[in-house]
Amino acid sequence: MQNIIPMPEGTGQRPRLRAVLFDMDGVLFDSMPAHAQSWAKVATHFGLTMTPSEAYLHEGRTGEATINILAQRYWGRNATAEEQRNIYALKCEEFNKYPEAPKMPGAESLLRQVKAMGLTIVVVTGSGQQSLLSRLQTHYPGFFRPDLIVSSADVKRGKPAPDPYLMGLEKAGCRPEEAIVVENAPLGVQAARAAGIYTLAANTGPLDPQVLTDAGAQQVFPSMQALSDAWSGLFEATTA
Ligand code: MG
Repeated sequence: MQNIIPMPEGTGQRPRLRAVLFDMDGVLFDSMPAHAQSWAKVATHFGLTMTPSEAYLHEGRTGEATINILAQRYWGRNATAEEQRNIYALKCEEFNKYPEAPKMPGAESLLRQVKAMGLTIVVVTGSGQQSLLSRLQTHYPGFFRPDLIVSSADVKRGKPAPDPYLMGLEKAGCRPEEAIVVENAPLGVQAARAAGIYTLAANTGPLDPQVLTDAGAQQVFPSMQALSDAWSGLFEATTA
């Protein structure tokens, strides 16, 4: 097995792959349908409009940033801190009414391969949804260290800014060229690429895969299972 990043990078030696940074929603948990429906419902409650399909395009933003986009559109200003708290609290409450989001098929088999390669596993999420963050440990026991999780509480600027992924690199103690990101959302892909990291996308939602390519994903897979199935081949193909 080669610990080599599958990337034709410059003229020098290939850097050694040391870490894989995973997004959470739509990558580790099949949670996006519930997120999208919750955002749509809560927006309506506050006299705002966000369709579930629009919610997929905002995936990866912090709750605060998503709320401000709506506030700007309908109120012509940012939401106050209190409005943000109230709206996000209600969104979380709404989300928690949905049945537990299942583990994304293929995610655990990919995690197992990554772990077997001796790579550091980091979670980088825009979410502050405690119900999901705590489920990382119970549903994927042995894969995630609490000190290697970046959530919305850790950064001021969320995705598509590079900050969450830069913090993920810092926590992993590695450089951008020593890591790979696994993302499912266009803004998440943008954030990862802005941080200088090779990015694989799994298109687990309703979006056209082209939006992930346009966002900068170097490779796009139709599902996490497809990415997991292709994983070992990614390394063989580039070291042959
Ligand atoms: Mg996601």
